[in-house]
Amino acid sequence: MRKVIFLDRDGVINDNSHYYTYNVTDFIINDGVIEFLKIMSQKGYEFIVITNQSGISKGVYAKADVESVHKYLISELGKSGILILEIYYCTHHNDVEACLCRKPNSLLIEKSIARFNIDKTQSYFIGDQQRDVDTAIAANIKPILVDQNSDLNEIMNKIV
Ligand SMILES: [Mg+2]
Ligand SMILES: [Zn+2]
Repeated sequence: MRKVIFLDRDGVINDNSHYYTYNVTDFIINDGVIEFLKIMSQKGYEFIVITNQSGISKGVYAKADVESVHKYLISELGKSGILILEIYYCTHHNDVEACLCRKPNSLLIEKSIARFNIDKTQSYFIGDQQRDVDTAIAANIKPILVDQNSDLNEIMNKIV
């Protein structure tokens, strides 16, 4: 079975000082992310990103914008030999259309577990908001709450 570190996107992987990040030019990978993911890869972890992108539902940006940002992220991490298994994103917002995939719902984690044969007991969810913690708890995955845009190497000792 695989052990996975689930990652929230905005505020964890990339700087979220902008309210919505949907242009590649605004997508700044936070300091420490690449080093952290490299070390975790060496420890045998694989990575899945779970992100709420309600700007799509609200008409602020399009699915194509999110796809190009994700393509960029995958290619930037790939330069350092880091492989992302999947990036799952929810396009909805409760004010527009309710769904089961928006965090704190855990559907996207459940999907991942079903698809990738993941060992929940050896997996983690890193997020910068309470709803990320709630998502992890709902899926029975260990949550790690970090400060927004902080260096992930600070939480290295929380991961066995
Ligand atoms: Mg976040
Ligand atoms: Zn959704």
